Amino acid sequence: MPDIDTVIRDARVMTCDPARAGLGMIDHGAIAIANGAIAWVGEAADAPPARRTIELGGRLLTPGLVDCHTHAIFAGDRANEFAMRAAGAGYLEIAAAGGGIAATLMPTRAASDDELIELLEGRLDLVLGHGTTTIEIKSGYDLTVEGELRLLRCVARSAQTRGGPRIVPTLLAHLVPPERTGDRDAFVRELCDQLVPAVAREGLATSVDVYCDEGAFTLAETRAILGAAKQRGLAVRGHVGQFRDLGAADLLAELGALSGDHLEQVTDAGIAAMARAGIVAVMLPGACIQLRLPVPPIDKLRAAGVAMAVASDLNPGSSYCEALPIQLWLAATHYGMTVDEAWLGVTRHAAKALGLAGVGTLTVGAPADLVAWRCEDPATVPYRYGASTSLIDEVYFAGEPAPPR
Ligand SMILES: [Zn+2]
Repeated sequence: MPDIDTVIRDARVMTCDPARAGLGMIDHGAIAIANGAIAWVGEAADAPPARRTIELGGRLLTPGLVDCHTHAIFAGDRANEFAMRAAGAGYLEIAAAGGGIAATLMPTRAASDDELIELLEGRLDLVLGHGTTTIEIKSGYDLTVEGELRLLRCVARSAQTRGGPRIVPTLLAHLVPPERTGDRDAFVRELCDQLVPAVAREGLATSVDVYCDEGAFTLAETRAILGAAKQRGLAVRGHVGQFRDLGAADLLAELGALSGDHLEQVTDAGIAAMARAGIVAVMLPGACIQLRLPVPPIDKLRAAGVAMAVASDLNPGSSYCEALPIQLWLAATHYGMTVDEAWLGVTRHAAKALGLAGVGTLTVGAPADLVAWRCEDPATVPYRYGASTSLIDEVYFAGEPAPPR
């Protein structure tokens, strides 16, 4: 065993270790940290000596939360749409009135790099304060080749200069911008022949996501874009059946995707295909509820053995939420997921959706990204959904307390 820097002991350790049942709880547990990674996990009585020992007094220690689906880089807000929706307007109606994704394009395109990074980092401060230590960030609010590259370069700049959260960038084909609806075939070709290769060349993202739905990309366009991504060695995932099922779940299974996200509308055959291909179903309850959509078929996903993740969908239109514990609560209430399912959804299964081995667990070799809570029961976190920041005693990033912001 390497020299141990820190031991955290007398903790209820939620390992989320796939080799253990459920959440992999160790009631009188400890973990040892060396060089920013977990070097040992076990019973507190067996803990190795360390330079620094932290006693948790029987309270809960979990992996840092993993938010595997966000659109966190954008400018402007759409509070007006929130008010319209509250007064009864629908998503497609708001889009027809010039709202929706298109309403975020203009302020995002107009913002400087520094402005975009400052806005992003303000959100990341909140994200970390709510216990999220790994976050996926999609591009998708410029929708030109150069503009999408710029957004991903801003994300990369932020990732290089900050001490957490860990950032996983994704190129998102979000929709055809209003100025290109007359030549959408040419736009899709630009994505396939210019944008995807440039992203792969510069290493700006690890995966490509396509919004395959009514009003976004068709199944054939999705196949073309994700095919180009696979050709360049990038992982693929998709927004699937938020409004209408276009058959994307089957396509993602065929392509060996990491995840299918949303899934308010998905066929039994699509679920079976996802199960066979080992694709994670990413649940986005905040957006679902805000848009007043039907709940995805949780019982069928569970019965088919599909791993379910839970994410914030942080975006200015349907879910402006940096707090993953609130999604944990919505998953366990509105979505009918068990507390264990919801917790695995923001830890191990979310990391799987990002293709990150070990992250989202407290197992040997995993990064020492942790949350020490001021409660003992994992159910307390979603149960007291309004108090997550005061329930958090400390967030550790790579074995060190994350600096307060
Ligand atoms: Zn999304």
